[in-house]
Amino acid sequence: MSRQIFVTTALPYANGNFHVGHIMEYIQADIWVRFQRMQGHQVNFVGADDAHGAPIMIAAEKAGKTPQQFVADIAAGRKPYLEGFHIAFDHWSSTDSAENHALAQEIYVALREAGLITVRPVEQFFDPEKSMFLPDRFIKGECPKCGAKDQYGDSCEVCGAVYSPIELKNPYSALSGATPVRKTSDHYFFKLSDPRCMEFLQAWTQDGRLQSEVANKIAEWFTKDESGEGGLSDWDISRDAPYFGIEIPDAPGKYFYVWLDAPVGYLASLKSYFAHGGPKARHGDARTFEEYMADPAVEQVHFIGKDITYFHTLFWPAMLKFSGRKLPTQINVHGFITVSGEKMSKSRGTGIDPLKYLGLGMNPEWLRYYIAAKLNSKVEDVDFNPEDFVARVNSDLVGKYVNIASRCSTFIHKYFDGELAQLAAADEGKLQEMIPLQAVISRETGIAEAIDKREFGKALREIMAAADEINQYFDTAKPWELAKDSAQHVANSALHEVLSACLEGFKYLTLFLSPILPEVTRRAFDFLGFDMPLSWAERRQPVSTIRKYEHLMTRVDPKMLDALFEPPVPPVVEAPKPGGGNKAPMPPEGEHLALGRPGGEEIAPTITIDDFVKVDLRIAKIVNAEHVEGSTKLLRLTLDVGEGRTRNVFSGIKDAYNPEDLVGKLTVMVANLAPRKMKFGVSEGMVLAGSHADEKANPGIYVLEPFAGALPGMRVR
Ligand SMILES: [Zn+2]
Repeated sequence: MSRQIFVTTALPYANGNFHVGHIMEYIQADIWVRFQRMQGHQVNFVGADDAHGAPIMIAAEKAGKTPQQFVADIAAGRKPYLEGFHIAFDHWSSTDSAENHALAQEIYVALREAGLITVRPVEQFFDPEKSMFLPDRFIKGECPKCGAKDQYGDSCEVCGAVYSPIELKNPYSALSGATPVRKTSDHYFFKLSDPRCMEFLQAWTQDGRLQSEVANKIAEWFTKDESGEGGLSDWDISRDAPYFGIEIPDAPGKYFYVWLDAPVGYLASLKSYFAHGGPKARHGDARTFEEYMADPAVEQVHFIGKDITYFHTLFWPAMLKFSGRKLPTQINVHGFITVSGEKMSKSRGTGIDPLKYLGLGMNPEWLRYYIAAKLNSKVEDVDFNPEDFVARVNSDLVGKYVNIASRCSTFIHKYFDGELAQLAAADEGKLQEMIPLQAVISRETGIAEAIDKREFGKALREIMAAADEINQYFDTAKPWELAKDSAQHVANSALHEVLSACLEGFKYLTLFLSPILPEVTRRAFDFLGFDMPLSWAERRQPVSTIRKYEHLMTRVDPKMLDALFEPPVPPVVEAPKPGGGNKAPMPPEGEHLALGRPGGEEIAPTITIDDFVKVDLRIAKIVNAEHVEGSTKLLRLTLDVGEGRTRNVFSGIKDAYNPEDLVGKLTVMVANLAPRKMKFGVSEGMVLAGSHADEKANPGIYVLEPFAGALPGMRVR
């Protein structure tokens, strides 16, 4: 039976561009949505920018823009990411939309009428210069526990203490620098501690719809300790003006805290999609948004990261329940993405910049495949490991999947004019005895179940196991041997059947992979002679005539990953002057100082680690050093790099060193430089030394010497 599913991803905060964590979540949801559609289900898949809150208001002010303009500019930059990674939201809106203003207010009024809103005075820090209450992150001061300076209002980065901003010593506003004053104001609270909320949430979160680790975590939040502490607290949902957000009805100067109206944005974006006629155009669904949401058959599915579980499993369902709305059917929580086991950090350069990835010409479907291969239905972090990425894409996608099409197509075109054998004429039972078909048909139910349950990694292991069986069958049948016999060049010969069975198997693999790799499978279906990708129900349609084989996918060049992770070139900034002087520093007289040209020359073009390891640098002992008769520049060095022999190296350091001062010292040499014949003999390597590009103006040459403990022959890396 056809399902009706409303799917969302978490709304990204509109104060910056997407990072790879967003892209991972969108890829996960997009694969699931494409799979449901392939099954014939009706899906509405929407997203929106989370536009409100103090951080955006403050960032907009700094940028000299209105908050509306600021978030509009961020929204305008979303497209290249989404299109670039084939993420096909049906609709994208903003929480600052008219629909969201209206819906958030309606939900609030319903909660108030249910007796779940209360007002209490709250004392907070107020910036007298900016005339605003300060969010925790915009108050700084000394840590009340360890005394560390310049700590934020909520926690200390030095000792890890967590506290309330009013506990900070010598607090100051991070906005104006002014000393904040304590001020009391009325705040609006959603009474999550109300017995009705507690009872509802305790049952709803434990009814099996949530992932077990999520349900277990929530159960802990409900538990009170011996002192009666713990349990659910009321939720402060208001902020005082000035605030970029939605006004609270009947409460002048009060706005909804951004986290109240953010999830309402899911509904608002869907409402806006209905208002634009989207569902009617896509599925012929002529209902209104209200009619659609009132249909009990409609499933509401959210994909979110683990950091926002609390908001989505407690506040959000309680808001929906007590405002009389549909409750989420699934809340699918995923972990974070790490790189080589480390949490991403822009400053360390270990993050993956999605646009840089695309800009390097890396195939977006490589990333879709890799992320899918690592995803399961649990709340586990996904680790991006560059070597693993290269290996999986090259061996699975190119070596196994694409390989089947490329190795079969040549024979089929050469001997059979592109036509496949009439396998379908055989009865179903006999057909399934053919190994390539058995490989895929025996797995199809398991693969479909795995994708539906978000066990993408498991599904891909099954798909690749089927691809292995098809390739093995091809290798065993040896079509290249069969083809030597011209009697095989006729329709329905053994050769023809082997190739046709492999291509039938390839058709199924293409179908299974289509939610994950929409673009390459679209081209593969085209190669198989289908004008449109097949749906799940159409999967038995036989391939009859293949089209010209065009290269489906290239291998990953490991150099691309080196380039991807190469840290961005740091901007040239003037070093701050002690005392805080703002004047540009003047270069000392006579010094040819040019920013960006350290040592008198620009940094050479980037090389990869592969380039670097080609240079074999070794610790060398200077066994002997002497003048070279007839040379004004060179010293002759005798070096030992632990090879059981010595090397003769000429080095242009005569001006800087007396030979006797060098003997017995250690240095670094290029040990695999091609020997060079010079006027005075053959030089078998090169000693490393530092010097300025303009040696006349900046004389001096400095031979490298390792720290104590290094031994001749050790490699420098
Ligand atoms: Zn501290």
